[in-house]
Amino acid sequence: MLICCVLLGCSTEKETRLLEYRAALTQLDILERQYPTLRNPQLLSYISYLTQRLNAQTTTGKSYRVTLLKDHQRFAYHLGSGLIVLSSGLIQQLDNEAQLAFLIAHEMAHYQLKHSSQEHRFSLSSHKKGLQAEIEADTLALGIMALAGYDPRVSVYALSRAYLGRDGKNSISHPSFEERIAHIGERIRSSGWKPPGVVQKREFVRFQRALNTPL
Ligand SMILES: [Zn+2]
Repeated sequence: MLICCVLLGCSTEKETRLLEYRAALTQLDILERQYPTLRNPQLLSYISYLTQRLNAQTTTGKSYRVTLLKDHQRFAYHLGSGLIVLSSGLIQQLDNEAQLAFLIAHEMAHYQLKHSSQEHRFSLSSHKKGLQAEIEADTLALGIMALAGYDPRVSVYALSRAYLGRDGKNSISHPSFEERIAHIGERIRSSGWKPPGVVQKREFVRFQRALNTPL
């Protein structure tokens, strides 16, 4: 009986994971119909290197697939099951690889922390549960990027660029922005982290330029 329950439990968990994966793939398919997908091998190998560098610092054994979508809007989502999408518009707003590392690590963290993609999207409002999920993901992302050798202080700039852009204009209404920035500052101060950490600008600028090459 116990064995049956255990087996049944496993099967249900497997089925849930499969359903989540299918739902994430469906969402990815919808987005890929909406925006052109960037498939330049130079871009893909850079993103793959960056994702692996970050993932090497986690012990969850999860795998990730990052898809680059060409659009001027700034967005980054974890769709579920390790599928992450990033817009070229967001990447163009950044200054260096460390900033991008934070944004990718943040999306990876949502998966590791088992935040549903629905909850994550909802977090664009001021909903408290959404803000809590964002702060948890920021905390884990800071740890992942610091272990990967990046300077975690750039996360503040990455978030500012994601929400405010270079021109200082607000891209979306996001009341939780100030709270997240305050939390990040506090987290870095209390973590005992000490410089140096890399930002890797030169490689990143090459990657940014390649975003403008034909698909
Ligand atoms: Zn998030």
